[in-house]
Amino acid sequence: MRNRFKDKELHCNFCGKEEKEAMILVAGLESHICEACVEQAQNIIIQELYNNDANPDAQKQGKKPDHHFKLPVAATPALIKSHLDNYVIGQDSAKKKLAVAVYNHYKRIGQQTKIGEVEIEKSNILFVGRTGTGKTLIAKTIAKFLNVPFAIVDATVFTEAGYVGEDVESILARLLQNCNYSVEAAEMGIVYIDEVDKIARKGDNPSLTRDVSGEGVQQGLLKMLEGSEVSVPPYGGRKHPEQKLLKVNTTNILFICGGAFDGIERHIARRINTQVIGYGNDKKNEIDRDNLLPYMNHQDIKSFGLIPELLGRLPILTHLDPLDKTALKRILTEPKNAIMKQYIHLFEMEGVKLTVTEEALDYFAEVALEYNLGARGLRSICEAIFTDAMFEIPSNRAQKEFVVSLEYAKERIEQSTAMHKAA
Ligand code: ADP
Repeated sequence: MRNRFKDKELHCNFCGKEEKEAMILVAGLESHICEACVEQAQNIIIQELYNNDANPDAQKQGKKPDHHFKLPVAATPALIKSHLDNYVIGQDSAKKKLAVAVYNHYKRIGQQTKIGEVEIEKSNILFVGRTGTGKTLIAKTIAKFLNVPFAIVDATVFTEAGYVGEDVESILARLLQNCNYSVEAAEMGIVYIDEVDKIARKGDNPSLTRDVSGEGVQQGLLKMLEGSEVSVPPYGGRKHPEQKLLKVNTTNILFICGGAFDGIERHIARRINTQVIGYGNDKKNEIDRDNLLPYMNHQDIKSFGLIPELLGRLPILTHLDPLDKTALKRILTEPKNAIMKQYIHLFEMEGVKLTVTEEALDYFAEVALEYNLGARGLRSICEAIFTDAMFEIPSNRAQKEFVVSLEYAKERIEQSTAMHKAA
């Protein structure tokens, strides 16, 4: 491949670019081609084979998605939300805020600002909610709906590496990887940064001894979130020191940050208590003390430990509710690709009709509630319940029906819990 014929002067036989100008030079029998020509050739192939509608199936399977972004026609905030409703149960407040933010964001991209005209500022978003309540799912679903590149990154990896500058840029490397290194596409993408609460400053004090691991990473994120030109090592930082950097402008990238912010309720309560004193006692009674998240504001996140500059770049703040038993049960059956629908389909493929009784479904939800992992627990519960049946049924062609009753479900869960304890 690269550098195979070191002694000859290598160049791309298609565009004439020399080896030192190219990022990658792929060798053929007697010639070479650079990465730009490969990409161009691929575009021509896709155009010829797929985009003329001659072969819609092939288009569906086409390797390269269409990155020319257009907000889907008539995509009002209400339509965006109703699309989210197909996949995400509950979380109305988060879905509504996101729908409006996304609508405005992509309107803003379409706007060609003339001098003196009002320029709409970018509106990155911060999701606060326990694990497994749908933060990542919402971000993923919206990116798919808009057909824009999407990347999920975990804020904690930056802390561990401790080499802030380079690592923060790797967020964009991930986005580039997900759209075949098309800078143009990546610049319209959505990035979900998970676990931002883990890079909170410890304590409210801008302390004398700087907390580099957390605050340092927050500082590193500032420029990127705001919108700037960032030089990105496309294949990640350290392993490929020879790679050429790609310049990515983050002005139109929508950043969604998320975190559980464990204990944020304490900060909310403290603020509310001090505020309420000034208003008299009536207001105090109106507050639902069991669920303080809807009262959260930026001040609370600041006192949790995010620096004000970062918060300033995350103007839209919204919460996700903890999932109760009803929500968990709905998650099992209602979303377009609900877990139960998946199992029913799997059994159908074996010629077996799967039925799960209402009581059994209630039980699934109760166990998930005990696990305290949000909807994440549902998948492992289903595995525990269905694995034996899925093992046996393919060798038993006579079976045409399989019913999961409450008793059966209990028995399977108890058995798997016992096994875990023994292990
Ligand atoms: P987190 O809030 O930790 O980012 P995720 O979005 O990754 O949680 O949720 C984990 C899984 O649980 C999802 O893939 C999805 O299947 C399910 N899930 C969580 N919340 C919801 C919800 N509100 N509606 C539907 N499914 C959900």
